[in-house]
Amino acid sequence: MSDLRELYQEVILDHQRRPRNFHRLEDANRQAEGFNPLCGDRIHLYLRIEDGVVKDVGFEGSGCAISTASASMMTESLKGKTEAQAEELFEKFHDLVMGRQQADPAGLGKLAVFSGLREYPVRVKCATLAWHTLRAALQGSLETVATE
Ligand code: ZN
Repeated sequence: MSDLRELYQEVILDHQRRPRNFHRLEDANRQAEGFNPLCGDRIHLYLRIEDGVVKDVGFEGSGCAISTASASMMTESLKGKTEAQAEELFEKFHDLVMGRQQADPAGLGKLAVFSGLREYPVRVKCATLAWHTLRAALQGSLETVATE
């Protein structure tokens, strides 16, 4: 586990320092906001979806390293995915960080480092915030998603 923990910290810190796709998307056609009251993490997620495919994605917000890194890595993995694939990724990621038995890191790519979160259960909501917000954006919900 120690290799995984090291990799986890390295990847999280890298994405916290240089979040990818950290900007407002002017031509977004889906968006949602998320809030994790436990930690104070906030995210505003923007998506541009054309013909059922995620063409572009961006986010703004402020939060802890885990929520920022998770959002950053999520946006990286979403481009080019269909809405169904994005939903599938949500399920896989959720299973992984919840430590569910059926969790299958295959297909998650770099997101697999979040399996290290099983050791920090209180941070799971930080890691899943962006993903719940993604789901709300895909479903066209305009209300703020809270992790509670
Ligand atoms: Zn947090």
